[in-house]
Amino acid sequence: MKLLLLVYALTASLANTNNIRTSHPAPSLFDDVPSFPLFNAAEPGLHLPALGLGVGFYGVNNEPYGTYPECGAEPHGDPPLPSPPGCGPNTQKAVYTWLSKAGGVRLDCANSYYNHRSVAQGIKQSLIDRSKIFILSKVGPSFPLGYNETINQTLDILKELQTDWIDSLLVHWPIMDNPDSSDPVCNITNPLTYNEKQCRLSTWSAMVLLFNRGLVRSIGVSNYNITHLQEIIDAGLPLPSVNQVSFHPYIYRTGRADLLAFCQKNRIQLVAYSPLGVPDVHQFPVEHQSQGATGMARTLLEDPLITSLAKTYNRTPAQILLRWIHQLGIASNPRSMNETHMIENLAIASNPFTISDNDMTRIANLAQDTCNVDSDWYECVGNGNLP
Ligand code: NDP
Repeated sequence: MKLLLLVYALTASLANTNNIRTSHPAPSLFDDVPSFPLFNAAEPGLHLPALGLGVGFYGVNNEPYGTYPECGAEPHGDPPLPSPPGCGPNTQKAVYTWLSKAGGVRLDCANSYYNHRSVAQGIKQSLIDRSKIFILSKVGPSFPLGYNETINQTLDILKELQTDWIDSLLVHWPIMDNPDSSDPVCNITNPLTYNEKQCRLSTWSAMVLLFNRGLVRSIGVSNYNITHLQEIIDAGLPLPSVNQVSFHPYIYRTGRADLLAFCQKNRIQLVAYSPLGVPDVHQFPVEHQSQGATGMARTLLEDPLITSLAKTYNRTPAQILLRWIHQLGIASNPRSMNETHMIENLAIASNPFTISDNDMTRIANLAQDTCNVDSDWYECVGNGNLP
C-alpha cells in the first residue's frame, strides 16, 4: 500500500514537473559559466558551476556559529522551534544578493539547513528564471534516510523550494543511524535488520530512481570516503557525479589528497565545503575559542603564507585559497553574506589568475590539522597523522 502511495506521489509530482517545466526555457547545462562537467549519474552535458554560495549554517541543535550573519535556519518544526532572529531573512538576502548583484548561479542547500523556503524567497525576489539557477540540495542527516524516506524527502524539498527539479541532489552524510526510518536496513532500533552499509545502498538506489525519473538532473554524495564510494562500485550501481567534502589546505594531507585522486579516477567531481577554513570559527562557543593549541593559525585567511601570496598575486587571501582549490579541479561553495566577498569569490574563475606549480605545492604543504582539541568538529573528519 505504502509503495502504491509512493508511486502515486511520484507520478503526480512528475506530471507536475512536466507542467511547470514547460513554463520555463529548457534548463541550462551551465557550460556557459566557469564550470566543471559532470559524469556518471548526471544528465549528459550538465556542468557544475565552479563557484556556489553556501547557504548552510553549522552548530549543535541548530544553533549557529555566532549570531548574524552566520545563521541560516528559518523557524521550523511543529510547533516551530525557536530560530535565531533574522535567520530566514538572512538566507533570503544572501541568495538574492548572490543571484542578482554578484552574478552567481549555484546555490548549495540542504534539507538539514532548514531554510529551503527562504532560499525560494530569495530566488523569487531575484526575478531570475529558475532555468538559469543551479540548485544543489541534500537529503538527511537530520531527516531519516532509507528508500522511501529519500523519495519522500525529495518531494518535500521540491515543494519547499517551489521548484519541480533539483539540479544536483546529494546524500548529505554516509552515517545513517536514524531511529525513525521505515526502511528495515536503516532503522537503528532493530539490530536484527539494521545494516548501515545496506542502508547507504538502499538510500542510493532511491537516489538512482529519482535521477532516472528526471526529478533531479544529477545525483551525488557528501562526506563519503573511499570505502563508502567503493561500496557503490561493488554493488554495480551508477556512480555519484559529485562528492562534497570539507577541503582546504589545512586538511589536504589528512585524507583529502587520496580522496581527490580516487574521485578523479572515477570521474566523480569533488566539491569543497568550508573552503576558507571557516574563518568565523572563532565565534564557536567559548570552550572552542582556544583552538590555537592545535598548532593551526587562528584562521586560514590569516596564515602568513596565504597573506604573502595574496600580495604576490595582487589578490585577496580568500582568492588565493579558492583559486588553489579551483586549480586542483575542485568546485567550491564559500558561504557569505557580503556582496563584496561574493564578487571577489566568483572572480577567481571569471577573472582568473594562475598560481604557479611551486606555490600550489607550498600551499598544499601547509597541512597541519591534528584535530587534537575536539575531534567532534566536522572539519576534523578524516583526521589522520601527518606523514
Ligand atoms: P566557509 O569556509 O565558506 O566560511 C564562511 C565564512 O567565510 C563566513 O564567515 C564568510 O563571511 C567568510 N567569507 C566568505 N568569503 C570571504 C572573502 N572573500 N573574504 C573573507 N571572508 C570571506 O565555511 P562554511 O563551513 O560555511 O562552508 C561553506 C558552505 O559549505 C556552507 O554554507 C554549506 O553550504 C557547505 N557545507 C557543507 C557541509 C556538508 O556536510 N556537505 C558541511 C559544512 C558546510 P562573510 O559573510 O562576511 O563573507
